[in-house]
Amino acid sequence: MTDFGQFSLPGWLVLPLAPFIGSWLGVVVRRLPAGRRLALDRSGCEHCNTPLGPAALVPLCSFIWQRGRCRHCGVWLGWFYPAIELAAVAVAAAAFCADGNGGQVWIDAALGWTLLCAAWIDAETFRLPDSITLSLILIGLVVTWFLNGSAIFNHAAAAALGYGSFRLLDMIYFSLRKRHGLGQGDAKLLAAAGAWLGLAVLPYVVVSAGIIGICIAILSRRTGGLRGEQMIAFGPALALAFFLLQITGVALF
Ligand SMILES: [Zn+2]
Repeated sequence: MTDFGQFSLPGWLVLPLAPFIGSWLGVVVRRLPAGRRLALDRSGCEHCNTPLGPAALVPLCSFIWQRGRCRHCGVWLGWFYPAIELAAVAVAAAAFCADGNGGQVWIDAALGWTLLCAAWIDAETFRLPDSITLSLILIGLVVTWFLNGSAIFNHAAAAALGYGSFRLLDMIYFSLRKRHGLGQGDAKLLAAAGAWLGLAVLPYVVVSAGIIGICIAILSRRTGGLRGEQMIAFGPALALAFFLLQITGVALF
């Protein structure tokens, strides 16, 4: 357990909390890109609008009890909510295993959950919302300021370099191929990685994300999800590299 001033919570608490956070991330993924209001929980069945009962608000368990169907109209609710709830548990488990220390587990898990949300939205819509990427840049600088104030200029420079390098790469790619290779959202997400991780780790984020991106592209092609010149979203690869480097604290490759 670590004291962050008045803030003192055991790290293991992220694990039982994770399915509930995952359920709420599902709401954000469904509503944020559509510009809908973000409520605290799922309001009801998306098919018949029946409000969820208290049991249905317990993530994962309710899915198993009701075999993935709405208790009122029986419509199949799909894998989306259990999948994002399980992914949120995986993020919490990774954050907890990497560092059992209370405060750091909470910081890592909160970053991981935010990145999970951004990556999921990018995979579905090819857009990384500014509300997430710009907040991550700001929060990364604030966290750096509180935990290691002397590194603030290094991390601010890494944020600027991260953004600038991806914008430059995209301009070069555009002049050669007459289409965009990397989105503005990717540049802002790399800036956030710079703000959190600093200059020395930034190249590892880019290299790791590239390797993960190539693996995702090969897997998608094998499973028939990707054809010909079709684009893949780079956000998920970048988010995963960012999270892994944050929790391990060392360069992976
Ligand atoms: Zn229903």
